[in-house]
Amino acid sequence: MINKEELINKLNQYPRISLISLPSPLTEMSNLGLESQNLRLFIKRDDLTGLAFGGNKSRKLEFIMADVLAKKADVAITWASLQSNWCLQTAAAARKLGLKPILVLFKTYELGEQVDGNILLDFILGAEIHIKEAAKGKIVSLDEVAEVIEEVRLKTLKEGYNPYVVPIGGSTPGFSMDLPLGAMAYVQAGLEIFDQLKEQQVIPTWIVHASGSGATQAGLVVAAKAVSPQTKVMGICVSDPKKDFFPEVYQIAQETVAALDLKISIAPEDIILVDNYLGEGYGILTANIAQVIRLVAQQEGIFLDPVYTGKAMWALLDLIKQGYFHSGDRIVFIHTGGTAALFPHRQGFLSFLTS
Ligand SMILES: *Cc1c(COP(=O)(O)O)cnc(C)c1O
Repeated sequence: MINKEELINKLNQYPRISLISLPSPLTEMSNLGLESQNLRLFIKRDDLTGLAFGGNKSRKLEFIMADVLAKKADVAITWASLQSNWCLQTAAAARKLGLKPILVLFKTYELGEQVDGNILLDFILGAEIHIKEAAKGKIVSLDEVAEVIEEVRLKTLKEGYNPYVVPIGGSTPGFSMDLPLGAMAYVQAGLEIFDQLKEQQVIPTWIVHASGSGATQAGLVVAAKAVSPQTKVMGICVSDPKKDFFPEVYQIAQETVAALDLKISIAPEDIILVDNYLGEGYGILTANIAQVIRLVAQQEGIFLDPVYTGKAMWALLDLIKQGYFHSGDRIVFIHTGGTAALFPHRQGFLSFLTS
């Protein structure tokens, strides 16, 4: 464990650009009937960060965009899936800072060709969009994208720009991003959560969230390990099974410890991943997810998203039902955003929720 002020000082060595409203709200979800099991459930509203429909990526972009500007780039290039929240947030942040956004969007699931959800927002932002085929039901791997990204980068260079290539999700360092800047933002988010709960005299025993490219979890694990050893972090896998995804999260966490020069070490057991709720794969809406999204909307007036938070809440509520947690546990669920992707899934919602 280390001193909180010291951790804040280490984080402050890295510049960031103000893009969002912090702290995001943290409230208790009291309508889900968990009192009978003596559990308390809080929700951290990182969907309400204020940039382009909100989400965890906008936190990361405060650190990443500072690096983009420091490197005097005028174009931000990134990639992800067709309805990517990351790509939308990056495009919005780029526009706000006067940079040109270029997005390479991979068709990792079928949604028809309509300009809807995040793609509609990307289009309104005037992002340069390249759409590519990809394997279905999984987030694209580095091997699949490297060549296309390099092509786009070279073309941009030839046009006289100075492009910055941000790796997917702002997670694993590489391309133009040398440091785990996305994870640093979630070290800071962890501190924010501990502070907000402290005001209510609560120490969380669990933080639960959807884990996709790894930096959110890596940052939270580092924050908990550093200043709140009673808190465990659980990442719900949305795309890849644990055995494939674990090394990424673990590596980002270790790089974060190194970048911040912290005297702590992250053990493999600190990276808790749950992969029994992949359903039919990344971005594929199932009846379970649709029903959980309806439940939380009806009970709490909060909309989760179909790709990440709906799946993670399905997992959390199912684990609660199975008695995974202990009486007295204080659980924080992070709403990491993504709600614009509800709309292109209208067909799935209609078929799963009409009886
Ligand atoms: C990207 C994303 C996540 C996963 O965060 P990572 O840092 O990539 O693991 C979770 N929820 C939403 C809505 C996202 O867009």
